[in-house]
Amino acid sequence: MSQKKRHIPTRTCVVCREKRQRSDLLRIVRTTDGKIEFDRTGRVDGRGAYVCEDSDHWGASNRGEGINRGRLKHALKAEIDDSTVKLLSEAMKSHKAK
Ligand SMILES: [Zn+2]
Repeated sequence: MSQKKRHIPTRTCVVCREKRQRSDLLRIVRTTDGKIEFDRTGRVDGRGAYVCEDSDHWGASNRGEGINRGRLKHALKAEIDDSTVKLLSEAMKSHKAK
C-alpha cells in the first residue's frame, strides 16, 4: 500500500473553537522566556495558541475588550495583561494590513 494521503494540518482556534487550516490561523506563542508574542513565522519556540486570521476576535466588535483573554490565558497558561493584549492587537492589525 503506497497511497499517500495529503494531510492538511488543522488547528483549533482558542477563541471560537473552530478547527481550521493552519494557514487560516494566527499563532500566539508564549516563548521559552515567558513572553507572549504574535508569531508571524509560526516557528517560534514555545507554547502556541491559534486564533482565526479572518475573524474579528481582536477587533472593535469586542468593544475594547480585545481578545477573549480568559481563553488565551488558558491556552497559553500565562497571564495576559493589558499591554500584551494591546501589543498583540496591534501586531494583528499590521499583519492584516499587508
Ligand atoms: Zn476563531
